[in-house]
Amino acid sequence: MFNLSDILKKQTFTDEEIVYLLGLTDPQDCQKLKEEAYRRTTENTGNKVYYRGLIECSNICTANCRYCGIRKDNHNVKRYLMDKEDIVGQALWAADNGYGSICLQAGERHDEKFISFIEECLIEIHEKTVSEKLPDGLGITLSLGEQPIEVYERWAKASGNRRNLRYLARFETSNRELFDMLHSGKGNNEKVLDNRFRCLQNLRECGYQVGTGVMIGIPGQTLEDLCADIRMFQKLDVDMIGMGPYLMSEEADLVSLGQMENDKLFQLSLNMIAVCRLVLGNINIAAATALQVLHPEGRELGIEYGCNVIMPNLSPTKFRKGYQLYDFKPGLKDDPFTFGVRLESRINSRGREVGWNDSGSSKKWLMRSI
Ligand code: SAH
Repeated sequence: MFNLSDILKKQTFTDEEIVYLLGLTDPQDCQKLKEEAYRRTTENTGNKVYYRGLIECSNICTANCRYCGIRKDNHNVKRYLMDKEDIVGQALWAADNGYGSICLQAGERHDEKFISFIEECLIEIHEKTVSEKLPDGLGITLSLGEQPIEVYERWAKASGNRRNLRYLARFETSNRELFDMLHSGKGNNEKVLDNRFRCLQNLRECGYQVGTGVMIGIPGQTLEDLCADIRMFQKLDVDMIGMGPYLMSEEADLVSLGQMENDKLFQLSLNMIAVCRLVLGNINIAAATALQVLHPEGRELGIEYGCNVIMPNLSPTKFRKGYQLYDFKPGLKDDPFTFGVRLESRINSRGREVGWNDSGSSKKWLMRSI
């Protein structure tokens, strides 16, 4: 038998203990898990929540991930690529308004035109955001999928400052069968899990702070799978994690498998965040937008369960309909220019401060690079 209070005092955890914590459902038990995760977040990463202004630059994608609403074979979505002026403009607005960093996210593309387009955006953003407030320029996170190491290197160079540079590439699940199921189309596997891991290693070599993550509640995924995901985070020695619940998309290719019941999925997602905090200590953990689909205060609860990063959406509202990775994505109409300030009071209500004008590097990475 497991004793929750005893387990929560530990510094290292067995697989059995991790599975037990992930599976907690009793409200009082979940409350205890939350309190311990929150306490350890403060202890390991301080009291601040950092903003990364999310700019969804393009929904054009060459991949066919079966869970994703903007997969290549979905012809119901109008494809867009933001202009360079718009991307740089949003970035400058972020810098001027105290966001220490942004995240450029898009579908996956490998053509030279796109690669050099991102390069040009990065060069301009860095040039225009070095200031007294941000001596290293605006912090940058890229989330542009699997790329050859040469491309990661080109973008790192273009960013102008590798101390402020991060990349987010989730491996989605460490269960190979499940990964193959999620990415198999027309009889062949177009994505390979080991390739994803290689990308993460290459990113490390290029000097990025390495972020990854998984989807929680994928049909067929077990608590043991999620435990194995956490072990993989440890093995990869990641600096940051962004993860959220798997949500069904009518435009994707997994509708027949359904989706876990909302309340259960929400609690499981929060438990996963908390256990990651307990096991992984001083990494950054982002409260995914997807949490907000399941609960009106999803992101705030994410913070209480151990997150220390939030990614307010800075994409111009006219593009948001085109970036529906899953159904019911919230914030279709949230004004990008006032949302961050309105969010602040909600963050304060959870006892946290916004880390204005700070790019919020992961403590794990800072310790590593001393
Ligand atoms: N193309 C880039 C970034 C865009 S997708 C990449 O592949 O890394 C960003 C993340 O959205 C994915 O890693 C995936 O975990 C998440 N996502 C996509 N579809 C989703 C769905 N239906 N439910 C929950 N998360 C989803």
